[in-house]
Amino acid sequence: AVIPVAIAGAPYDVVIEEGALARAGRLCRPFVRKDSVAVITDENVAAAWRETVTASFAAQGIASQWLVLPAGEATKSWDSLVRVVDWLLGLEIERKDNVVALGGGVIGDLTGFAASMVKRGCGFIQMPTTLLAQVDSSVGGKTAINTAMGKNLVGAFHQPSLVLADPLSLDTLPLRDVRAGYAEVVKYGLIDDPEFFFWCEANAAHLLAGEAEAREHAIARSVAAKARIVAADEKETTGVRALLNLGHTFGHALEAQTGFSDRLLHGEGVALGMILAARYSARIGLMSGQDAERVAAHIAAVGLPASLKGLDMNYDGQTLKNHMLHDKKMDAGTLPFLLMRGIGQTFLAKDVDLADVAAFLDEELAR
Ligand code: NAD
Ligand code: ZN
Repeated sequence: AVIPVAIAGAPYDVVIEEGALARAGRLCRPFVRKDSVAVITDENVAAAWRETVTASFAAQGIASQWLVLPAGEATKSWDSLVRVVDWLLGLEIERKDNVVALGGGVIGDLTGFAASMVKRGCGFIQMPTTLLAQVDSSVGGKTAINTAMGKNLVGAFHQPSLVLADPLSLDTLPLRDVRAGYAEVVKYGLIDDPEFFFWCEANAAHLLAGEAEAREHAIARSVAAKARIVAADEKETTGVRALLNLGHTFGHALEAQTGFSDRLLHGEGVALGMILAARYSARIGLMSGQDAERVAAHIAAVGLPASLKGLDMNYDGQTLKNHMLHDKKMDAGTLPFLLMRGIGQTFLAKDVDLADVAAFLDEELAR
């Protein structure tokens, strides 16, 4: 599938097809003006995919130059940013060149941010290799690094020139990461596409087993949803893009509690966050308890964390509330919460009572 992303002034395509990495050279040919291309990746992705990508560029007469960074969230740092920018400048990258980000959200966010500043903004191509990056981070142009003050606090909006998502890349991705990315897939159903949520219920097992059709459909439908949302609100000014944060306010607080360690992956926090958003919506009478439990049941069924108790962390509702108060989405003293009127009916709730949320979290911890 090819999904167009209709960003005004910077439209681009997301190509989703099995074998896209093996055909990367040909697919990227119109975007590479020289006989060489710069590729930024991490150690794990290089081990699995460097040979394939190198060969596909070589077949088009394009030599690839590689910067291989350590794997992990710690790579989204000031130090790596300097390293990437200096490396690109050393290669004499020009503004119209496209550098390649081959990897998960860490490599995509870091490379995109570096590209946004090299020569005041050079081009870049996203080749997302995790499910999370394929359905979420590679599309929409948000780039960032982390600082000592927190995650994603420094960054830029910088749209890629092309996104190549190869479902085959998921064959080498640990199942835990596939599941975590799947949480973001479910999110699109819950935001505004109930039919897709029902599709997820019926097809998650096929997707997680690596069946081509299920994988491609899930990625394409997710990307189409993300493309629609970011085209409507590129820079998160109208509130439409905020819908993408469903499950993220609770999820972020849980991640903060673990110090953003691999004890809880981002998607795992989001999965649990979506359950909490559904149950809280039911608690205040917005959504039926039955629908909220249907959300929880699906998330549990795919093996994602589905209960606060199960996480076995040392916290209470008040601690989590305090993490929420430090969320960077805090806006003039209020925190925008994404709640649900039903499956596929997410909306941005304004006056959510954080004390009530803390009480709710204490109940969840006890259940
Ligand atoms: P990641 O990039 O760290 O990848 C997860 C792990 O999988 C890493 O160890 C990586 O080396 C490995 N890996 C990646 N692809 C592989 C493959 N095909 N085979 C084997 N191993 C592979 O993490 P992620 O979950 O992809 O992304 C998380 C990041 O994305 C976070 O920093 C988050 O802030 C960011 N993010 C950004 C946006 C956005 O809009 N820009 C949206 C959501 C998340
Ligand atoms: Zn997310």
